[in-house]
Amino acid sequence: QAFDLNSQIRSQFPTLTQMLGDYPLCYLDTAATSQKPQCVLDAMAQYYLHDNANVHRAAHQLSARATSSYENVRDQLQLFINAKRREEIIFTHGTTESINLVAFGLTPQLKSGDLILIDSAAHHANIVPWQELAKRTGAIIKPIPLTQDCRLDLNAYQALLELKPKVVALCHVSNALGTVNPVVELVRQAKAQGALTLVDGAQAVAHLSVDMAAIDCDFYVFSGHKMYGPTGIGVLYGRFEILDTLTPLLTGGEMIKRVSFDGTEFGSLPNRLEAGTPPISAVIGLGAAIRFLQLSLTLEVKAHEAELLQYLQNQLRALGDVHLYGAHSDNIGAIAFNLADEHHQDVGILLDQQGVAVRCGHHCAMPLMQTLNLKGCCRASIGIYTNKTDIDRFIAALASVKELLL
Ligand code: PMP
Repeated sequence: QAFDLNSQIRSQFPTLTQMLGDYPLCYLDTAATSQKPQCVLDAMAQYYLHDNANVHRAAHQLSARATSSYENVRDQLQLFINAKRREEIIFTHGTTESINLVAFGLTPQLKSGDLILIDSAAHHANIVPWQELAKRTGAIIKPIPLTQDCRLDLNAYQALLELKPKVVALCHVSNALGTVNPVVELVRQAKAQGALTLVDGAQAVAHLSVDMAAIDCDFYVFSGHKMYGPTGIGVLYGRFEILDTLTPLLTGGEMIKRVSFDGTEFGSLPNRLEAGTPPISAVIGLGAAIRFLQLSLTLEVKAHEAELLQYLQNQLRALGDVHLYGAHSDNIGAIAFNLADEHHQDVGILLDQQGVAVRCGHHCAMPLMQTLNLKGCCRASIGIYTNKTDIDRFIAALASVKELLL
């Protein structure tokens, strides 16, 4: 039955049926971006074909339709992540912009010597904006170390929290390794020391149920394109009281209440942090992706994804001469590996010649690669549509690469 469900879900993704030369596509790069179901493509086409107008401004019917479709997605998101208020949902262009918005917006609230703690497994998007904030304010950045097995070092974390950091930036699920942080507990400890907390959920929302009341962080960020939605749309969730204190990164139309040459009064949330014409079709596509996830990501499907990742890890181990990094049974979505001492890029190119798409490189986590003493690695990542055949084809292809190279 699980297989039937999986094939029914898979059939909704047009890109997955294609051939690459003689090989059917085997897409194991969902952590970079997911494929899109037909319902997302249809929702975006519907907007451009029938409702295309700018939002919030005009008195006419098209604009009213576009505005209500756009604002409905905010309500959907509020429910999807269990936020208290719709104004806590800000549309951005992606996780990167969401974190930049927070790091810029906090500038007046930090001073020289203030401490910012960052997860050592963080994506560059959750490192560089904080480094820039530190440059502007004189704040200090300290990485939270990892244990030997690539989990966040909880003892070291507690010791760092004793230093009363102003900000703690965590990832929910590591994009490079697929390791999962116990964010509820990490946020609770950080808040007890008075820190503001940001959780990067880019790799979590497509696989887990994410609940703001449970996690209780100040900010949570994610991207539409990693959760079966389009590129160009992301989300910043912020607890209202703190979100309302952020200095806007972008200013201009849409975010104001009154403008004169004597000065400008900004509008209220959420508009205050959404300057300019938003990516309307992408928001509408994200709405369709959320509906798709709510229907499809059942407990059974979550269990299927977990089993598949476990199977993938086991098959890689069984193949031999494969190094796995941070591979745990509770990982989500991805596995990082190298084939013996072979260059990750060579392995990736040879896999691609057999229609297998994996990611190779530093995975936008150079500090993590430095910790692991690696130049880079390969990453295979799965999604809601991945099936056992994908894994078997990947393992067979890797076995032939091994034969060729070793
Ligand atoms: N954080 C994590 C954990 C990610 O996986 C990614 C995307 N690889 C990002 C941040 C950046 O997301 P985007 O490129 O969509 O802004």
